[in-house]
Amino acid sequence: MPKVSNWQIGRDCEYPYDGHRPARQWSIIFDLNKCIACQTCTLACKTTWTSGKGQEYMFWNNVETKPWGGYPLAWDLRILEQLGRQDWGANGEYLGKTLVEAAPENERVLHYAPVDEDWMYPNIGEDDCGGGTVDGGMHQASLPHDQWFFYLPRTCAHCTYPACLAACPRKAIYKREEDGIVLIDQSRCKGYGECVRACPYKKSMYNPHTRTSEKCIGCYPAVEQGIQPQCVVNCIGKIRVMGFINPPAKARADNPIDYLVHEKGLALPYYPQLGLEPNIYYIPPIHADRDYLRQMFGPRVEDAIEAYRKLPEDPRASGLLCLIGSTDRIMHRFDVKKGMAYGYDEAGAEIVRVPVTEDVIVRAPFDAKLGASRHNTP
Ligand code: SF4
Ligand code: SF4
Ligand code: SF4
Repeated sequence: MPKVSNWQIGRDCEYPYDGHRPARQWSIIFDLNKCIACQTCTLACKTTWTSGKGQEYMFWNNVETKPWGGYPLAWDLRILEQLGRQDWGANGEYLGKTLVEAAPENERVLHYAPVDEDWMYPNIGEDDCGGGTVDGGMHQASLPHDQWFFYLPRTCAHCTYPACLAACPRKAIYKREEDGIVLIDQSRCKGYGECVRACPYKKSMYNPHTRTSEKCIGCYPAVEQGIQPQCVVNCIGKIRVMGFINPPAKARADNPIDYLVHEKGLALPYYPQLGLEPNIYYIPPIHADRDYLRQMFGPRVEDAIEAYRKLPEDPRASGLLCLIGSTDRIMHRFDVKKGMAYGYDEAGAEIVRVPVTEDVIVRAPFDAKLGASRHNTP
């Protein structure tokens, strides 16, 4: 089987097809310290793309509460348990097997198939810090672990080495050269569901009405116009930014995605050990259990949290985070100078500018000139 280079696991790994990186790679970064699980992203996607027959249960974007939530049910536990030991070497090399390397004989990818009931509880575990064991009279000290949870928004990761594509016997799934978005050709798909079984993130879904499989399309009609996806531009918490990521050797320090992932190490892929090089990246939540975060985001999670804690001393990174959620256009470059952060489009034209620190104005409780009482509310 061919070997492909996978920088997220620090080594080459097996994949059924020869390695090829598209001219550009679609990518989203999520700051998990800011997500409030309002589900606006979920509904923005739902009302745009999945309001048809057979799509009732589909959430191409979903937000689940970790560690107890998961849609479909326990999707991550079930594939991680099958994969076995997932150790990392001191140099950042993954020592275990990827999904393709662990595939059973005559299969292309280690997989499992969710059943209908697994898709019935999109909000299971929401806001749960005790695994369903908390009741009205329970004392805090009797919880099974420290109280923590965080919200994990998820879309298709438009993986560099997609398991869905690898498993499709019809070659109906393809990765676009111009932006790396992974699509299912609806005219070729026969609904065998191999992609639904193979995608470890469970982001390919079967439509019983059309009898084909469907998935997040990366909002490519918007992306083609230089606009970020619906789930990104509608995010209430301003936790998301979409752009294009380069592999580490070609990273550009003025590219917002490259800067946060490669330059600062603030944003990490999730479950990189599965070996697909997923292209959604997370700034990890600084309050959550480190062992849990390490198994989810890999060995660099401590460094990412350290970098996040040092943001007040880092005007450039802080400025970039201020730009997140401030424009619906795709930012290809950014700059921070004299207390202002700037975003630029592909042609280099300025599309947005925001102050890195906003002035705080404290008003006197009583305005003697107007004879009015005032409060320091916005
Ligand atoms: S809209 Fe933003 S803040 Fe709200 S749940 Fe989605 S990602 Fe989180
Ligand atoms: S997340 Fe799943 S559906 Fe999306 S490209 Fe990767 S393997 Fe395919
Ligand atoms: S990128 Fe577009 S299609 Fe994909 S989850 Fe977000 S809104 Fe839905």
